[in-house]
Formats: sequence, structure tokens, C-alpha cells
Amino acid sequence: MTFLPFVHDTPSTRVVFGSGRRRELTQEVERLGARRVLLIAGRHDTDLSAELAEGLGELLVAHVDEVVMHVPAAVAARALEAATAADADLIVAAGGGSAIGLAKAVARHRRTRILALPTTYAGSEMTQILGITEAGRKRTVNDEALRPQTVIYDPELTLGLPRDLSANSGMNALAHLVEGLYAPGVSPLSVVTAQEGIRALASALPRVMQDPMDRDARADALAGAWLGGWVLGTTGMGVHHTICHVLGGTFDLPHAPTHAAVLPYATAYNAEVAPEAMRRIAHALTEAFTPESDAATGLWSLGQHVGATTSLRALGLPHDALEPAVDLVVEANPVNPRPLDRESLLTLLEAAYWGNPPRLLIGARAQRIIDAGARRAES
Ligand code: NAD
Repeated sequence: MTFLPFVHDTPSTRVVFGSGRRRELTQEVERLGARRVLLIAGRHDTDLSAELAEGLGELLVAHVDEVVMHVPAAVAARALEAATAADADLIVAAGGGSAIGLAKAVARHRRTRILALPTTYAGSEMTQILGITEAGRKRTVNDEALRPQTVIYDPELTLGLPRDLSANSGMNALAHLVEGLYAPGVSPLSVVTAQEGIRALASALPRVMQDPMDRDARADALAGAWLGGWVLGTTGMGVHHTICHVLGGTFDLPHAPTHAAVLPYATAYNAEVAPEAMRRIAHALTEAFTPESDAATGLWSLGQHVGATTSLRALGLPHDALEPAVDLVVEANPVNPRPLDRESLLTLLEAAYWGNPPRLLIGARAQRIIDAGARRAES
């Protein structure tokens, strides 16, 4: 691979990884010298909240359990109030990307440090990026102060993640790794990391589906998710993430299933202009899971195999939302290897809407997808 000139900053997040290591939380809090902890943990696991609260003892000064996907600004304002009232000097965020996102929304105003205990494969814990939603628009804030200081990855926290969420969240992590191979900040280090992350997830997710209590498979998937977050937090994003932000922020689609439904098509969209990235994705998928195929088809097959969401239609997106969604993606104007034009983006979204095999998107066959979609929409 020929690398363009690049800048790589090594981000400083301490990562503690292993089964049962959530029990080292107090030790890690003390290591940061914190005295007043705000716990952000949603209502999906009250046992976890109780366990963490008991471990923190007097260090815990407040608990916010109102956690909402896409971090609505009003919810963030209430969490900020709670943090300010409690004079918190550290936020412990336990949960998926929504809990960790809420912690970042508070940290943005108070500069409070964050310790994260992720329970999904979303990867937010490794990034300096916040997605926040207001008036039907999700916007991103990029601020190094939002990157968590410490992350405790305990695979036991993912044992209860339902199958559909595991599959879709795994595809979300894969999306970070795929876009990291052609994003603006790509470097020799991010490339090998992305390839290894794809391999880890493609090998682990089918095993997780077979037995969600398989601890080794859960650990491998979480390690892949860590690499996904790392790649997202050191490189950047392209058209795929922008589409998912628009569909989540404006059309209120759920985050991980949307990533799962769009990823093969965004990959196909870039296939002809990023051949080296495609070769690496296909190679990692083939090593771990699929018979030889192009990158987009390999991702599509993996999604089908693990039971991830495979179409936007299945998420209830109305067909007439595609055109306004394209307009918003064009307006956002992400950096992407293939230039964005309305017609091609509509083809991409049309294909993702129906869940057609993505290889049809590559080259001249794209038109067929539009035609088939239009016929079906009419009927
Ligand atoms: P989520 O955090 O909203 O969790 C989805 C659902 O799963 C919730 O109901 C939650 O309570 C439940 N859940 C979480 N962990 C569980 C577990 N172990 N067992 C059972 N249930 C569990 O969803 P997500 O996909 O993790 O995160 C999505 C959010 O994260 C979006 O707002 C997205 O923008 C953000 N995100 C941000 C970044 C970033 O770098 N800024 C990266 C990825 C995602």
C-alpha cells in the first residue's frame, strides 16, 4: 500500500481488558485521583448499577439513569445539571454508546474526565467524538477532552447482550474498521489495526450467535470492538457514518441496526476508488469467515449469517425518506474517497432500503437497482 503523507497522534487512553476486571473499578478511579464520581448507567441493567455503586461506596455522589440513543440535547442538559449539582470530578459511564455519549456531552461543558465500562461493541469509549441531537439534526463534536481516560473492557458485561443487538453492534464496530481503511487519517498503524479488528469480529460474531454465553467468543468480539473504536478515534469517517448519522438523527432509526443495514452498500459505493482498502477487507473476512468474495459481498454475507439487520425497510424507514436523506448527506459533505453526487447516493440508499446484494451497486449494474426499487415502490 502506498501511504499518503499522514499525521498520527497516539491517543492516551488506559485500557484494562479481561473477564471480571470491572471489579477493579475503584482502584482505577483512585488511580485517577478522583473523589466525586457521577455514575451514568441506563436502566437495562440495574444489577450492574447496584454492583458498581456498592464498589464505589462513598466515592459515588450521583447517578444518572436517563440514557437515550443519539443523545438528545435536552437529556444532556439534565445530566449536566446533575453533574454540576454533585460537583462531580469523574464520570463513570457504564453501558453502550448512548451512556458513553451522554458522559461526553457532560464532559464537553465541565471538562470532567471519563472512565468507561462498555457493554456493547459501539466503540465510543475510544474516541474523542460526540454525536448529539437537537431539532432533528445529529451533529458531531470533535474534542480531545472528550476521550475517556480509562476504559475497562469486561467481556462478562456483554454476556447478556441480546443476539440481535450483538450482531448489529458488531456490524457497527466493523463499520469503524472498514471506513478507517480509507478515512483521511489512515496510517500504516491504523491499517494493520483495522485489518486485525475485522478479522477478530468476523471470527467472533458467528460464535457469539451460536452461543451468546461463549466467554471466549465474547472476549474476541470485544477485543475487535476495541480496535474498531481505536481506529475510529485515530482516523476518521466517510460516507457511511454520515448516512447513519442522518438516518439516526433526523429519521430516528436505531444506531447499530442502521449501520448494519448500510455498511455493505457504502462499501460497494467506494469499491472502485479504494481498491487497496477493499482487498484488505476481503482478505480479513476470508481469513475469518467467508468464502472468497469482494469486500461488500463479504460484509453482506456476514450480516446475513449472524442475523444482523439487512435492509432499511426492515427498520420502518418510509421509502419517501430516501431523497431528503440524500440531500442531508450531500449537505454534510463528508470527506470520502469517491465524490458524492445525488444520483449515486440515491442508488446506494435505494439498494440499502431493499437489502439487495451489494455487488449490484458496483459499476453499471447500479441502474437496475434503482429500476427494481422504483417498480416495487409503485406496487
Ligand atoms: P445503546 O447504548 O443505545 O444501547 C442499545 C440498547 O441496548 C439500550 O436499550 C441499552 O440499554 C441496551 N444494552 C446495552 N448494553 C447491554 C447489555 N450488555 N445487555 C443488554 N442490553 C444492553 O446503543 P449503542 O449501539 O451501543 O450506541 C449507540 C449510540 O452510541 C448512538 O447514540 C451513537 O451515536 C453513539 N456512538 C458514538 C460513537 C462515537 O465515537 N462518538 C461511536 C459509536 C456509537
